[in-house]
Formats: sequence, structure tokens, C-alpha cells
Amino acid sequence: MPLRNVERTPAAVWEALKTGNQRFTEHRGDHPNQDGPRRQALREGQRPSAVVISCSDSRVPVEIIFDVGLGDLFVVRTAGEILDQAVFGSIEYAIEALEVPLVVVMGHESCGAVAATVAALDGGDIPGGYQRVLIEKVAPSILEARGLGKTTTEEFECHHVLATVNQILSRSPEIAERVESGEVGIVGLRYRLSDGLTETVITRNAD
Ligand SMILES: [Zn+2]
Repeated sequence: MPLRNVERTPAAVWEALKTGNQRFTEHRGDHPNQDGPRRQALREGQRPSAVVISCSDSRVPVEIIFDVGLGDLFVVRTAGEILDQAVFGSIEYAIEALEVPLVVVMGHESCGAVAATVAALDGGDIPGGYQRVLIEKVAPSILEARGLGKTTTEEFECHHVLATVNQILSRSPEIAERVESGEVGIVGLRYRLSDGLTETVITRNAD
């Protein structure tokens, strides 16, 4: 069922996104909501079904991966899907003003921000200018993962997604309350470049 027709509950939206990702990986995408009438219909306003916080990596185009179109997802992208006040403000806006029932945090295979952070922690260079913040924001996730005995790049990528979900819940009482009450769900995913699937790292109130 197209995303815009599903019930606006965390579980229904999550199910629709998984189904869309399945279509994408099997090369039978519907490419919905990408035509002129849809564009016209959206002139009066938007009612997306989820807010997605994803890495900016050019290989991770959110709408394509979930086989959705215009007006379907409210997307915030930063390198390494790192959080700051602007990102939190965008998520809270999507939840409170646009009433999205689902928050998706999406990292991915072969993430440059994770790799650069691991290299910096292992004694490599820390990039200059504003890029430094990428390392500073991802480093706590890698250190925490290592503390838990994790060693592989894949484990670091997954743990950074998990830590980002936890950070959203611990730093925004507005979001945490709505997840607690069942109104909003949150899922953490790692997108695999190799086969196009989004593996589930964590779900809260979305299954
Ligand atoms: Zn990345």
C-alpha cells in the first residue's frame, strides 16, 4: 500500500517503509508520488509519514531507498547522521507540527564519517575547519562500542545508529514522552550498499 494511504501509526508506517525498501531491493519499485498531480496537490501543505535522520552520503538517497516520493518523508541529513540543535529542532517540528508518527535514524555501510572517526581515534589526522565536529560527534559512539568489545566497522556503524537513537530519546523530553506514550515510534537502521536492504538495529514502539 502506498505510504500516503497507510494508517498514521508507528507500526503501519514502519511496515510501509520496509515494504518499500523490499520493492527497491528487488528492482520493482513503484516510484509513487513523483508526478505532476502529486506536486500540485502538495501546494497547499505537507503531511509526511515519517521524519528520517540520515547520513548525507550520496549513496544513501532516502526517498529512493524506501520507494516513496514527494511529500512522503521529512528528511534531515548530516554527514554521519550527527545531531545538533538544528537537527533536534527539525525532528521536533516534524513530530509536533506535522504529526509524523515515526522517527527513523539511518546510518549505512561504508560510512566515511565513522571510518574517519575510527582513524582519528587510532592516532590519525583530525580534519580541520568545521569538519572537526563530525569526528567529535561520532567519537563517543565508537568509544562506547569499543567499551562493549565491538571491533568491526559494521559493529561501529550499527552502534553509532543505536547511540544516536538513544541520544535523541535522552536529550529531547518532547520526543521521549511521545515514544513513551506510544504516539511515536523510533527505529534505527543501517543501510547496506551491497544489497540495498536496511537492516534493523533497534526499534522502539514501532513493531
Ligand atoms: Zn555516512
